[in-house]
Amino acid sequence: MTPRTFRPSPFVAAMTVFLLVVAGSAGTVAAAGGFNLVSLDQEWGMRDQLRSQVAQEMKLVRDSDALAYINLVGRRIASRTTLGNRRWDFGIVNDPAVNAFNLPGGLVYVNSGLIAEADSLDELAGALAHEIGHGNARHGTQLMTRAYGYNALATLLLGRNPGQGKQILAQVVGAGVINNYSRGAELEADRLGVHYTYAAGYDPLGMVNLFQDLLQERQRRPSRVEQFFASHPLTEDRIRTVQAEAGQLPRKASLTHDTRNYQSFRSDLR
Ligand SMILES: [Zn+2]
Repeated sequence: MTPRTFRPSPFVAAMTVFLLVVAGSAGTVAAAGGFNLVSLDQEWGMRDQLRSQVAQEMKLVRDSDALAYINLVGRRIASRTTLGNRRWDFGIVNDPAVNAFNLPGGLVYVNSGLIAEADSLDELAGALAHEIGHGNARHGTQLMTRAYGYNALATLLLGRNPGQGKQILAQVVGAGVINNYSRGAELEADRLGVHYTYAAGYDPLGMVNLFQDLLQERQRRPSRVEQFFASHPLTEDRIRTVQAEAGQLPRKASLTHDTRNYQSFRSDLR
């Protein structure tokens, strides 16, 4: 076959410009919603840069056994999700404050302080599943779309200005650009998380127990959970919602609550 040169008709060219302009203006709309200028491939294309940014800014646990363990649990959950065919990586931040976060491209980080607070494996599974929920709902890149709009994101995604692109990713990690989810996004991540833990074979009530532990901890040592509560507004009614969601799932006898491996992973981290 003779190759033909593709030449867009003036109509197609005009439509393309129109769509880009519409996309550009919509990117700055502040309303909550699913609008996203970042494709999944572009999102996964950011992961290496984001990972090295995290490694620069945070004190990460390097212990290979601990990392193998958290990746085993995290990937078991992530594999049951719609984005389960993509690569997911789980890291541990060496920080006694309770926190966890998701970054674009299937990256989930958990503070050692959250692991200390999660008394059983299903509690850690609940926290990981909630972050995997943010990732599947694509809350991170939606917030990036709203925060930066079309022009800055195009610069980043097309690699037009590597300096500026690096700066955006540094802000995403450092300034908590995507650490400010709406209440609706939190509830969505909770709901997805309940279903993911259940599908992966963990007791979905682990998430409820973790949340209850954290509320108690807020009374005892508020400074340890302050960061978590700032990015994850946690209230009794949110806990009740998770409880109701978990209660609707058919009973399964084989759900994992805790394992000896989890407890040794946890005590080795201290
Ligand atoms: Zn969250």
